[in-house]
Amino acid sequence: MNRTSYVTMLNERTFSNCVESANTIAISGHIRPDGDCVGSCLGLCTYLLDQYPDKQVDVYLDEIPAEFLFLKNSDRIRQENVDQIRYDLCISLDCSDLERLNRANVIFKEAIHTVNIDHHITNEGFGDVSVVCPESSATCEVLYHLLKQGQLFGNGEISFECAEALYTGIVHDTGVFKHSNTTLEAMTTAGELIEYGLNTEKIINDTFFKKTYIQNQILGKALLESMMILDGRMIFSVVYQKDFRLFEATPADTNGVIDQLRITDGVHVAMFLYETETGDFKVSLRSDEYVDVSVIAKEFGGGGHIRAAGCTTHGQMRDIVTNIAGRVEDQLDAAMDEIDLQ
Ligand code: AMP
Ligand code: MN
Ligand code: MN
Repeated sequence: MNRTSYVTMLNERTFSNCVESANTIAISGHIRPDGDCVGSCLGLCTYLLDQYPDKQVDVYLDEIPAEFLFLKNSDRIRQENVDQIRYDLCISLDCSDLERLNRANVIFKEAIHTVNIDHHITNEGFGDVSVVCPESSATCEVLYHLLKQGQLFGNGEISFECAEALYTGIVHDTGVFKHSNTTLEAMTTAGELIEYGLNTEKIINDTFFKKTYIQNQILGKALLESMMILDGRMIFSVVYQKDFRLFEATPADTNGVIDQLRITDGVHVAMFLYETETGDFKVSLRSDEYVDVSVIAKEFGGGGHIRAAGCTTHGQMRDIVTNIAGRVEDQLDAAMDEIDLQ
């Protein structure tokens, strides 16, 4: 997608008016916020406060991983349940459906105007203004172009701290510029952001690669107990509540497990499950060139991207694995049949 088409996709005037006329603005992203979710929410918050110091800008997110606390305005993040405040504008970022806004769902529904900015292919478009760009590597990439346009709202001047947040989002959603979403546009955007004087090595090491001792232990356990299925074409691993208790770990400590599983030689699809407090399982799916995991995740009530998707599902672990592996096998077989025909 070229730069100008971001703006033509939306009703420019509605978007500008929504922002310019709002005195109170709420920003939110999906549950279990990742780097792109945190980066886009804090990047936009910083931009709005820089441009309009008199507006009230509040960010609603679940507790963010500690590695993102260095980003400006992370101290403004609110976690309380709010059902009485009616904001002039609520902006949803990096969130494919309203349910995933969690507690901000009510704020979004109650707000006078609503905007939805995202890059998930499964986002069906909600809100008065909806900008969904599945070709973009990250919501931060979409946001950068919207802000840089300048004529939408504000003067397009991005501060160092805003650039830091947006760069962090692109780093995380591209897996440090290695996933298939690392397009020329993603690299160009990251390059332009680097020009704001960012310490990229520090951002990448401190927020992406650095692991606590507990995180390494969980990773080790998950890898040791992983299983190859579908004749070595798929791998999966599970972490249960009892494991979290044993290692004194939280679900956020499993970040990165799926990235290690997916690079197993011969594997086309990797799946990582962890048991949530409620006895449900959070499922992460990753694929290489053959399987569209967004379709599978959506079938199980989730969503995401073609090569990275997820869902939360209930049931016996064995049944969940069997059901999802069955869908993976169908797609792999179809892909192989097509290759044979060529
Ligand atoms: P994860 O496996 O949690 O890292 O998620 C991979 C991608 O799928 C991310 O872009 C998520 O936003 C998306 N995703 C994960 N879980 C869900 C879900 N339950 N519903 C919709 N999208 C999801
Ligand atoms: Mn995300
Ligand atoms: Mn994202």
